[in-house]
Amino acid sequence: MLDTRELGRRPGSQREVSRSVPAPADLGIEVLHVPEGAPVELDLRIEAVMEGVLVTGEARAALEGECVRCLEPIDDEIDVRFQELFLYDDQVTPGEEPEDDGVSMLEDDLLDLEPLLRDAVVLALPFQPLCEEDCPGLCVECGARLKDDPDHTHEAAIDPRWAGLTALKHDED
Ligand SMILES: [Zn+2]
Ligand SMILES: [Zn+2]
Repeated sequence: MLDTRELGRRPGSQREVSRSVPAPADLGIEVLHVPEGAPVELDLRIEAVMEGVLVTGEARAALEGECVRCLEPIDDEIDVRFQELFLYDDQVTPGEEPEDDGVSMLEDDLLDLEPLLRDAVVLALPFQPLCEEDCPGLCVECGARLKDDPDHTHEAAIDPRWAGLTALKHDED
């Protein structure tokens, strides 16, 4: 929560705010997220406009997760930018709150950054995080990490299901 009272309501007045806040729970996606309680560094510019407060900001935090191919832990960082207009709640007629997704409301001059931060972080994350871009994943036969042991092989046993197909192919010849 960010208090905007010091900013005042004169359009054009602005302030820069830098602060570190503990990450809320579930910031990110299951396979890649900011650990709960880890510091999130925020650099914000808040600016009074006619109908509310415009927030432009940047957030940086550590990420923790695992590679979807080889399950190796991932340590990374995230750096996201966001911008949102928060309307003054006392200037909106009750029952006529805007439904626009890009618009939020101030509540008693307090600005709730959490939904904004959550959206920005989730949008910036890859759906399928990898430890490295060309991670070879796990061996389908034994589950070994191919990155650790790229050359290991197994006896090339022909799967009985394929053996049948091989026989058919011979018949065609
Ligand atoms: Zn991997
Ligand atoms: Zn193997």
